[in-house]
Amino acid sequence: MLQAVVAMESLPTSLTTKESKECLTIKRGTRILSEKPFAYVLKSQYRLERCDNCLEAVQKVRKCSNCRYVSYCNRTCQQQAWPLHKHECPFLKRVQPRIVPDAARMLCRLILRLEHGGDLERGYYTEHGSRKFRDLMSHYAEIKNDPKRREHLESLHAVLTDMISDSNSGSSSIVPNITELMSIYGRLITNGFNILDAEMNSIATAIYLGVSITDHSCQPNAVATFEGNELHVHVIEDLPCLDWSKIYISYIDLLNTPEQRRADLREHYYFLCVCSKCIDPQEMHEMTAAVCPNASCDASVNIELAKCQQCDASVTPQLRTAYNDIMAFTQSSLDSMKEVAYLDVCNVCLEKQRGVLHPLNVWHVKTLDAAFEAAINVGKWTDALAFGQQLLPGFGKYHGAWNPLVGLLYMKLGKIQLYERNYKLAVHHLQEAQCILSVTHGHDHRLLVDQLRPLMLQARHEMT
Ligand SMILES: [Zn+2]
Ligand SMILES: [Zn+2]
Ligand SMILES: [Zn+2]
Ligand SMILES: [Zn+2]
Repeated sequence: MLQAVVAMESLPTSLTTKESKECLTIKRGTRILSEKPFAYVLKSQYRLERCDNCLEAVQKVRKCSNCRYVSYCNRTCQQQAWPLHKHECPFLKRVQPRIVPDAARMLCRLILRLEHGGDLERGYYTEHGSRKFRDLMSHYAEIKNDPKRREHLESLHAVLTDMISDSNSGSSSIVPNITELMSIYGRLITNGFNILDAEMNSIATAIYLGVSITDHSCQPNAVATFEGNELHVHVIEDLPCLDWSKIYISYIDLLNTPEQRRADLREHYYFLCVCSKCIDPQEMHEMTAAVCPNASCDASVNIELAKCQQCDASVTPQLRTAYNDIMAFTQSSLDSMKEVAYLDVCNVCLEKQRGVLHPLNVWHVKTLDAAFEAAINVGKWTDALAFGQQLLPGFGKYHGAWNPLVGLLYMKLGKIQLYERNYKLAVHHLQEAQCILSVTHGHDHRLLVDQLRPLMLQARHEMT
């Protein structure tokens, strides 16, 4: 009975019985899945800013009166969280002012969920298609042979033994042995999602069961977005039929060369991507291209070749040297700005790139992205607008036209233009944002209702 109740609750809300059985065309923007997490943990850096239960930003923090480690937005959230939180609460209290690693808290929650009936729980992706936690890939063998992962797991095991044994009055019986823990850990690291807030910052980690059916592609036909802790999957192209074996989302940052993407996927997900973009040599060349030495030619030039393929202009040794220097300089500059981007550093990079790197070179695009954020952070709106505009072609090309990041870029541009009183352009960019975000998030998503629509109304109002 319990299983049946759970099953009913986990059913996707937006897909009717009819749609899953018959082969109906699925239009771009259709929400094909909504799912609550099987387990999730708010990142510790947000524990005094966001509710540990619903993940919303809290105005007036209501801390757990016992551990004072986690916060809630109200009593209802606190009560909802208690059945799970009560097991970790004594440990979190004892560990203060230290912070428990997020991965340890997440593993703890998974163990507790599995211990209390979670093993039977199913996440549905269609009326009859479902996945249990044990159906998720564990990559046991790969992790066992990966020294970095093993070391990480062993340290987590030590934290967990300490954590769970004390909070259960001396009984350490529910901490699994290292073999069992490795199978849970493997499922976590290869199936875990980062829950993103409206600005695409990662605020929590989570496991969703149903959506784990989807494979990766660097040219996905669906995207996962979030509303609170709920995950939505929207298709971003028209599909002849809903066939989950042919639904692909991207697991990684697409603003990277095929080489980097494949390395990321191999390191985190243990597979070699053979998607059409990864096996296309043209993709690698475009992403690392130099400008053509002939100023009137806009072709992207492969620096290893002797000539431009379009106009036959020769690639000079000087261009090659300048290219190698600026590529190395850009890569190390961006590496040093992983946490915070500095406008002056970005400007130096962009200056050096001019006349050497092609505008669609991915390292140039990444620099523009960093410069855009840096300019916003220091309130240099005119600079931000210029960087954002230059960013659009590369961002759209590599992230794909129907990508939340591209929609958000348009929304930010529209917002700045509104404040800069450039109402016509503001409306134009906000419309572009709406077009994309209503596909990736849905018309009724809070990002559109609470943020985009008011901006649009204001911009239209000011224009008249
Ligand atoms: Zn809450
Ligand atoms: Zn507590
Ligand atoms: Zn790929
Ligand atoms: Zn040329």
